[in-house]
Amino acid sequence: MSDAKVDIRPGETRALRAAREVLRRGHFEVLNPAPDGVKRFCVTDRAGKMETITADPAWAKKPTCTCMQQYVNNQFKGTDLCPHIVAVLVREEDLRCQLLDVLL
Ligand SMILES: [Zn+2]
Repeated sequence: MSDAKVDIRPGETRALRAAREVLRRGHFEVLNPAPDGVKRFCVTDRAGKMETITADPAWAKKPTCTCMQQYVNNQFKGTDLCPHIVAVLVREEDLRCQLLDVLL
């Protein structure tokens, strides 16, 4: 019997909890988009640490984040499940459907 909760691994649950914290307490700033139309955001967490997130409304490029967790994701995990990317995709209506790529 399949159950979505069973499919989520512990590290993913941690990232989603962290994303919830970023959404609750983080400060979000929309930066000027890149020349190719990719949206850019600055997220500042409660401790004052700033990260830059990019997301492509055309869904052609993968989202990126400057945080250490996403660096590790890129190097070792092949996932974009960083709390900042998840938080930005949740907040931005035109990017929300791309959450599926991050979670699947
Ligand atoms: Zn991040």
